[in-house]
Amino acid sequence: MQLLLRPLTLLVAMGTLPALGKDGPKTAPPEGPSRVTLTYLGTAGWILSDGRVTIVIDPYVSRLRFSEVLGRKLEQVPGDQRALHSETDPLKPDEAAIDRRIPKADYVLIHHSHSDHLLDAPYLAKKRGAQLIGHESATNIARAGGVPDSQLITVRGGEDYEFGSFSLRVIPSLHSTLSQKHYHDSRIAPRDIKLPLNLDGYLEGGSLAYLIRFGGRKILTFGSMNYIERELEGLRPDVVLVGTNRSQVENHDYLGRLIRVLERPPVVLPTHWDDLWLPFETPQTEALKRLETFRKEVHALSPETQVIIPRYFEPLELPPVKPR
Ligand SMILES: [Zn+2]
Repeated sequence: MQLLLRPLTLLVAMGTLPALGKDGPKTAPPEGPSRVTLTYLGTAGWILSDGRVTIVIDPYVSRLRFSEVLGRKLEQVPGDQRALHSETDPLKPDEAAIDRRIPKADYVLIHHSHSDHLLDAPYLAKKRGAQLIGHESATNIARAGGVPDSQLITVRGGEDYEFGSFSLRVIPSLHSTLSQKHYHDSRIAPRDIKLPLNLDGYLEGGSLAYLIRFGGRKILTFGSMNYIERELEGLRPDVVLVGTNRSQVENHDYLGRLIRVLERPPVVLPTHWDDLWLPFETPQTEALKRLETFRKEVHALSPETQVIIPRYFEPLELPPVKPR
């Protein structure tokens, strides 16, 4: 990173590149691919970093323990020391876990506002001074959590924003099917919402995908097991975080349509694949079996695609990009 930082700093000093002004970041992004790491936080959470800028996606390291969810009793792990929650309990983020697991954040992106995507984000954005980007529900809940308006960017899908160190295309998307396709919730968290909320209080608020152009790569992220196929035409991402879990089978040809519309992306990482009710220490035996099937299905659709299976909290360096 030093090699990239020094010439850029020099160019800014020489006046050939615009420096940060009061109208916001205007620095041109570095040319060509740089070292970019992705760190999996469990559920749909990731840290994306080029060593200078850190983008955190759907952080949920609180990973709360529940007795039941959507009327389904959850299997409990012997020796699990975490506090047990019911669906009606007010939810609070585990601030110590967030401090320990996410030491830096410049931007926080939210795919949708369910608690397993949003619970940790307001505290994280406040603590690290990060800009939080999400739908109206996400930014209303974040404001209720004490994030100042100057750190909230509300999007609806269709935006293509320049942030200097990266650019962000916001893509309208769909939530996973739940309850055998009977789940539907069009409510939006209102501006006067108060925290804490229980599980039901974290409304979906609509779903988004993001195309992040960062470190010379195009990284497409999903937070759920669904998408709008026509919104993905022509994106040709280098790296895709593909939502995969049991509910994907409710969609017709879920992986086939996705891999084809993305024109067989070079690198795929699964996201939202683990059993989020289990503590981090418990082996994800069933989920890892499903991932082997996922890997085989992606390879059958696109033999050249590299499928990378992440481990919790271990930074993965993205392979160099090949011209597409
Ligand atoms: Zn959700």
